[in-house]
Amino acid sequence: MFFYNVALLNSPLEPLTYQSVEDIKIGTLVEVSLQRRAKLQKAVIVKIVEKPSFKCVNIKEISTYFYDDKMLETASFISKYYVCSLGEALSVYTPFYMVEKTDFKEDINYTIELSNNQQKAYQFTQDNKVSLLFANTGSGKTEIYITAIKNIISQQKQALLLLPEISLSPQMEQRLTKVFGEQIAIWHSKIQKKKKESIIEDLLSGKVKIIAGARSALFLPYVNLGLIIVDEEHDDSYKSAQKPRLHVKDLSIYIGNKYDTQVILGSATPSLSTFHKVPYFRLKETFFQSEKQITFLDSNLELNDTIINKIKETIDNNNQVIVFLPTRANFKYQICKECGDAIECPFCSVSLSLHKNHNALQCHYCNYTQAIPKTCPSCKTGTIESFRLGTAEVYEQLQNILPSKVVEKFDRDSIKTNTALKKTLKQFNDNKIDILVGTQMLSKGHDYHNVTLAVVLGIDSILNMTSYKVREKALSLLIQIAGRSGRKGFGEVLIQTKNEDFFHNYLEVSDYEDFLKDELKSRVDLYPPYLRIARIIFSHKNAFIAKKELDMYVNQLKDHKELDIIGFGECNIFKISNNYRYEMLLRSNNVTKLLSVLHSIKTPIVSIDMDTLY
Ligand SMILES: [Zn+2]
Ligand SMILES: [Zn+2]
Repeated sequence: MFFYNVALLNSPLEPLTYQSVEDIKIGTLVEVSLQRRAKLQKAVIVKIVEKPSFKCVNIKEISTYFYDDKMLETASFISKYYVCSLGEALSVYTPFYMVEKTDFKEDINYTIELSNNQQKAYQFTQDNKVSLLFANTGSGKTEIYITAIKNIISQQKQALLLLPEISLSPQMEQRLTKVFGEQIAIWHSKIQKKKKESIIEDLLSGKVKIIAGARSALFLPYVNLGLIIVDEEHDDSYKSAQKPRLHVKDLSIYIGNKYDTQVILGSATPSLSTFHKVPYFRLKETFFQSEKQITFLDSNLELNDTIINKIKETIDNNNQVIVFLPTRANFKYQICKECGDAIECPFCSVSLSLHKNHNALQCHYCNYTQAIPKTCPSCKTGTIESFRLGTAEVYEQLQNILPSKVVEKFDRDSIKTNTALKKTLKQFNDNKIDILVGTQMLSKGHDYHNVTLAVVLGIDSILNMTSYKVREKALSLLIQIAGRSGRKGFGEVLIQTKNEDFFHNYLEVSDYEDFLKDELKSRVDLYPPYLRIARIIFSHKNAFIAKKELDMYVNQLKDHKELDIIGFGECNIFKISNNYRYEMLLRSNNVTKLLSVLHSIKTPIVSIDMDTLY
């Protein structure tokens, strides 16, 4: 009889011991029964052990799927660093299975001429195992990516191009397919199961050598991954919001340092953490020398005459406009004129947003929806006024003001599928849309050829959030949006803000590189990248239970020598879906000590976010 430790997929339990008469290889996917439950549970053999003193249960099924050593090692790192069970870490991976190899056939009939500077940048990425391409919008980093990918696949290795979920634009897809043909496959969460299976099959057989895709693409079965490119590396969507709360960019750097895999990170506005730890090459030169005129508006968040006239003028000159707002729906807050109460979600401590097209108020956290009340639900008499306009409202107002123009929305309410994304982007680039009104989705790496005006509204609400990262978030977002205007020649940017000094300084006087250097100085001894911060949330339907857990850990940790509690108390959003939430922020420059404390927090009501973005 053989004895094995098996990690249960998607289970918070640590590995358990099972037995089998079969000699099973480490990494094999098996099925076991758990506490006499009828349904079998998928699990992975992670260790061969001695006969234990207790009685073991037999492994029920042995599959032909397996996880290789790199997957097992990286999953072990994930479970330690992002504080989850080994089974939870392994569950992000797609396992290997045996397929017949196809013969390697190189068919790239496309040559790319790199400019002098691009050539230097490319050389830099080849000289450094992990490198950052700090490349201004329009400086042609895609050509460098393509050259690096060609180089890797000519060595019979595979390449991965990671992109934020929504930023694989039709242009990018066309471009990559044109160069690499059937050797490249596109991977994202909305691809159908059948298609996914056939991509895996082709990846294993060697027919597909390049994957371009979102976060989950890092966890596919690569036989010989030689290169990982992380495009738009600053993008927060690379960090998972669910357990394991891993950061795909940081994990790529980890893989690059540990294995024989080259890593290139690219961005026009790199994250401070990458800028701090990865050697960079600055690519400033743009193909289309673009002159940019920036105007600041010290106004309220509204469409005023200055903005409307500028939009009209731009469209009359046969150019296009993008309008950015951080909020979707018509209005974020509904407040009673008489008693001043806001209409909140009954299950969450957030304001309900007004969605006029559904004639409803909706919660953006739990999706609770209700009819729009005629009078205030609190005082029963007051009338309700709406505040903080969002994309839907600006879209409607622009339609009314400019009835002969075509306005479209570009946010999560209107773009729900990849097909919808492609369709809207195509219509916009075919000049069938005059104005695109959207949220952050607008900024994600899409090329707009004919946009000469970017209107940025409400950027201050990002700057006013509570996080040590707000300056970085707001400025990089602003630069990303501004970069969409004037790709060919002249471009204008209208920015509505009460913080002109800050933005003006880093947009017009100095640039993002100076910002990163200044920001680094301001974070010494206080914040990442010099220290690590973990956010610990206790949540429960009973606020008292959550609070009790928090208090206990605050007491236990407050005198800890090697870590600080930066803050604790109710979360900014205290209640979500009827769960009351308390948080504690821990900071330390000793990662080992911090992790050992995090792993010691055993209560089931906790969620731990290492390297939190908040
Ligand atoms: Zn009222
Ligand atoms: Zn809600």
